[in-house]
Amino acid sequence: MSDCIFCQIIEKHIPASVVYEDDEMLCFKDINPAAPVHLLLIPKVHFDSLAHAQAKHEALLGRMMFKVPQIAQANGLNNGFKTQINTGKGGGQEVFHLHIHIMGRPA
Ligand code: AMP
Ligand code: ZN
Repeated sequence: MSDCIFCQIIEKHIPASVVYEDDEMLCFKDINPAAPVHLLLIPKVHFDSLAHAQAKHEALLGRMMFKVPQIAQANGLNNGFKTQINTGKGGGQEVFHLHIHIMGRPA
């Protein structure tokens, strides 16, 4: 079993409240929400952070960013939302599997 907590969520070894899933990404509710809606969108392939992304991840990152507003809308964020990607210890990253925070308050 992977020692990465988000890989364990992908593998369904630990539970999460999943709001979106396809072949290459998964979105679930943050366990410690900083906003009324706080979601995390992760790639199913593991890489530690944006600083560890390789050229082969470029299109996947684009598809994830394109998916963000669709997921936000589907979760009630019709009036806008915030996205955040913490990168590295200096960037406040705590879980080293790339993730995009999606946060907001339903209108
Ligand atoms: P970051 O500081 O960008 O690495 O954020 C990591 C986020 O993952 C935090 O907002 C945590 O609340 C969240 N988190 C940690 N473990 C879990 C989990 N098992 N399920 C859902 N969210 C989690
Ligand atoms: Zn992982």
